[in-house]
Amino acid sequence: YDDRDGYIWMDGTLVPWRDAKVHILTHAMHYASSVFEGERCYNGKIFKSREHSARLIESGRLLDMTVPYSVDQIEEAKYAMLKANGWTDAYVRAVAWRGAGEDMGVSAARNPVRMAVAGWEWGAYYGDAKWQGAKLDIAKWKRPSPETIPTAAKAAGLYMICTMSKHAAEAKGCSDALFMDYRGYVAEATGANVFFVKDGVVHTPLADAFLNGITRQTVIAMLKDMGLSVEERHIMPDELGTFSECWLTGTAAEVTPVGQIGDYHFQVGDLTRKVSDTYEALVRS
Ligand code: PMP
Repeated sequence: YDDRDGYIWMDGTLVPWRDAKVHILTHAMHYASSVFEGERCYNGKIFKSREHSARLIESGRLLDMTVPYSVDQIEEAKYAMLKANGWTDAYVRAVAWRGAGEDMGVSAARNPVRMAVAGWEWGAYYGDAKWQGAKLDIAKWKRPSPETIPTAAKAAGLYMICTMSKHAAEAKGCSDALFMDYRGYVAEATGANVFFVKDGVVHTPLADAFLNGITRQTVIAMLKDMGLSVEERHIMPDELGTFSECWLTGTAAEVTPVGQIGDYHFQVGDLTRKVSDTYEALVRS
């Protein structure tokens, strides 16, 4: 990803893609002092753009890092990056991190908080398998307690076990892994939230120990508009066998049907298709 044409917005200016570099003594690289956003631009408009910018600032605040830009300035940066690359449809990656500076230890309050916005083309997150239903492994790691780490932040440090779990899943021929949380409740996938259907009612884990995704919130509102009831509650893994349909939500994943989690099977049913189609229409409207 480092050697290509294009532009990346970095600390207030657009720089050629190949020159968008940081020093090896960047604090974030050693101590995970980094927060980020994943967004999608459709037909020239970033879906829920201001919500993503606000979440980036909030994630920084939760990590004691003041992102040195306002929502308006981040909006400008994202659209400047898209324009410089000539993109109307792209994945947008904003990232803010504690840089190299005065200190090179755990404490680094004097080091500057830096920010960049990049983008790239990214099609279906789970590839062509989408309509067959993604196959998920069950992660051996658990989502941590909110008393252990700020679980509401979209922070790099929360992704270490995501990469490990996704690699383990892929090695078994799965496209992703589903996490339980520290209490044993069903939580989320490595980059997406999860929904289930039972007897026409939608169930989704209560977002009290993982990222309450912007897509998750959008889909819950959409389902309620459709007149469906949505139960946000604690779900035990032994309930998985009682659900008929399952899908994942996320900016990159959009609405992706799930066909299998461990030994449990789900059909790509009518409601999953309807939710996926309605979401697709919404983001492009
Ligand atoms: N959980 C995790 C761990 C994620 O990385 C993501 C993707 N940002 C989500 C959930 C879904 O969040 P959103 O809908 O805001 O993209």
